[in-house]
Amino acid sequence: MPNLALPGTGESSEDKTGGLKSNSSPDAAARLPAVDRLLAAPQLNAVAAEHGTLQVKRAVQDVLAENRAAIVAGAAVPDSDTLIAQVRLRLSQVWASRLRPVFNLSGTVIHTNLGRALLAEEAITAVATAMRTYTALEYDVASGGRGDRDHIVEDLLRELTGAEAATVVNNNAAAVLLSLKALATRKEAIISRGELIEIGGAFRMPDIMKAAGCKLVEVGTTNRTHARDYEDACGPKTGLIVKAHWSNYAITGFIATVDDATLARIANAHGVPYMVDLGAGALVDLALHGLPKEPLPQESLAAGADVVTFSGDKLLGGPQAGLIVGRADAIAKIKKDPLKRALRVSKLTMAALEATLRIYASGHRLEERLPTLALLTRRQADIRAACERIAGALKSAVAPSFSVAVEDCASQIGSGSLPAERLPSAALALRPGAKVSGRAIERLQDRLRALPTPVIGRIADGALWLDLRCLLPRDEAAFVENIRALMSP
Ligand SMILES: *Cc1c(COP(=O)(O)O)cnc(C)c1O
Repeated sequence: MPNLALPGTGESSEDKTGGLKSNSSPDAAARLPAVDRLLAAPQLNAVAAEHGTLQVKRAVQDVLAENRAAIVAGAAVPDSDTLIAQVRLRLSQVWASRLRPVFNLSGTVIHTNLGRALLAEEAITAVATAMRTYTALEYDVASGGRGDRDHIVEDLLRELTGAEAATVVNNNAAAVLLSLKALATRKEAIISRGELIEIGGAFRMPDIMKAAGCKLVEVGTTNRTHARDYEDACGPKTGLIVKAHWSNYAITGFIATVDDATLARIANAHGVPYMVDLGAGALVDLALHGLPKEPLPQESLAAGADVVTFSGDKLLGGPQAGLIVGRADAIAKIKKDPLKRALRVSKLTMAALEATLRIYASGHRLEERLPTLALLTRRQADIRAACERIAGALKSAVAPSFSVAVEDCASQIGSGSLPAERLPSAALALRPGAKVSGRAIERLQDRLRALPTPVIGRIADGALWLDLRCLLPRDEAAFVENIRALMSP
């Protein structure tokens, strides 16, 4: 190993790059190696081959500049091994993906900010294949002519929901916007006052209606809307009756809503379509899997809805997408709108969606093959056992400042699905010891987020809760290894 920190090697080159004029100990700072000298260290050959010489040079310059400043402030001159380690660390930080894997121990399964659904292995394989090869995305292999990308999933969606036709766009917000625009632009869209929803990330029904060129006509009251409210509002300018699923909130007590069949009948009597924005849109009855019931697109369609929209990456457990299913004439109108082209999905989305829908169509081992369903149906005893396995490692990482206890808690489904429902779960609850001060929990939370793989927990009732529902058994060892880094100061 060459000793790069020789006295007298650091004249010209780092003066150009560092820009720090040292006053207090210029002699010591001058003992840092020159940029080119450090750059030539054989230990950096491999990183240079991976990241490119220019990136390594930049890292070397930054590291030398930082050290020069530190030396001027009184720090010792580091040896060459230390400098090289710093360069490598800097490169790994700069080149770490911004789309970093994290441990979702927040207790929310379908967490929008953490990427919502984990996809089935079949979907992952299908996406990899679609990335690697040409695919018949919009190509009719039988005739050699142009095809339609919606046809990749249309038969599956028809079979699963009973719809006559289906189309797919980038997300459910896009599905709602496009459907409103195609069916009711320059016309009135009637919706209950209780359904003027806001979904996270600035999806607000009144704003979407405006963007679609519809005139919003709100009927009824916040808690009670009746069939006659819709009937009274229908007139020559009516273009559409809309129902939006409450999703992320609940209204209980003295309430009245109008069911799909009644709304479809009223719409039909006035010659306008009836559209339902379901939001999460499970494809199977979740009650059969021991979960709270969520409305299904097939139920709204069977009750007479002309168009139903729902998300691909909420309860469906597929890729981000907006699914629009319904009557053939309504879907044809939607597909003809120029906005459809602007909102279309990529071949990667289609690949993942097709593979996910095929699992539903098979009806076979859904709880094993669909990670979202697997996580939602995970048993409390199983989660508690995971807590017991990990508690010891966590204790040694945070003791004596924090205690670790295995406790029952409640997970949320997330993404606006079934907001009032909780799933019995178990967590590691971390509580500060008596001697630990003030914002200790918040600081611990910061440290967990600063781990090589950030750990996302939640603070409640004076404890930091790590709900292990979403820690997959195959990731437990990696998790234990990850929290070891908490022990170093
Ligand atoms: C989630 C949701 C949306 C938005 O769907 P995205 O897929 O996030 O674009 C729209 N409407 C309802 C009722 C929802 O729950």
